Amino acid sequence: MAALRRTQRTEHPAPPAHTGVAGTGLAVELTGVRRQYGRGAGAVHALRGIDLALPHGSFTAVMGPSGSGKSTFLQCAAGLDRPTAGSVRLGGTEITGMSENRLTELRRSRLGFVFQAFNLLPSLTVEQNVLLPMRLAGQRPDRSRAAEVLGQVGLGDKGARRPSELSGGQQQRVALARALVTRPDVVFADEPTGALDTTTAAEVLALLRSAVDRLGATVVMVTHDPVAAAHADRVLFLADGAIADTLPRTSPARIADRMRTLTAPAAHVGVAA
Ligand code: ADP
Repeated sequence: MAALRRTQRTEHPAPPAHTGVAGTGLAVELTGVRRQYGRGAGAVHALRGIDLALPHGSFTAVMGPSGSGKSTFLQCAAGLDRPTAGSVRLGGTEITGMSENRLTELRRSRLGFVFQAFNLLPSLTVEQNVLLPMRLAGQRPDRSRAAEVLGQVGLGDKGARRPSELSGGQQQRVALARALVTRPDVVFADEPTGALDTTTAAEVLALLRSAVDRLGATVVMVTHDPVAAAHADRVLFLADGAIADTLPRTSPARIADRMRTLTAPAAHVGVAA
């Protein structure tokens, strides 16, 4: 049965993602999300009212100067931190006010994570690392599913290896396979190419892109790299806790230009194209 499904999925790309999931059709929805640290005069307004709707099957890059709120945004959107105000919906489920236990369960079963530092468990094999989210979500570890996603990231023959036996790029591909194994509503990626050289980074970005295009995955990626952001369908620019601008898929040069105007001292950038 599992083998049959594997064959079908390998031969036929997944259907368009927006048809695949019940609910609103939106993978991520933020409404009026604010996050404040501290109170009174010393309060830091890390997010000042973020409104955002990301459809299933979309690839979004989040950029912005240091301190603009990228990490806070990712943490709030992924249910790792609680906004001070506003609401977050993931795959149509309102997570605001959810108990810690339910949030943990939701993160394990419906979200995938890719980090700059790979975060693989060194004592486990590649296959065991990939199966970990299934175990944590209380699902039966499905070895044919692990083989499938490892095949999708080009590591079909590496399941029995340990992470330390693989290159950095290969380790990040394992992390991507691990993020995809439960067919999550959203994959959150935090500087996924930050520790990789240019060539290897390009391979990982191509895989993220193909996870969106071929598997219908939804990816939200924080990055400071315009080349990485150029793989996304849409680039959000954060400045001082707010969305300062968005660009549809475009070149690294245009993204870098937009970043420069965002970070220019005293730049007050309006709607100039
Ligand atoms: P970025 O990821 O873009 O560098 P962050 O989300 O880390 O930005 O930070 C946004 C703002 O919130 C910054 O001014 C930062 O100093 C502040 N901040 C982040 N985390 C905390 C915290 N735990 N306590 C107080 N201030 C924080």
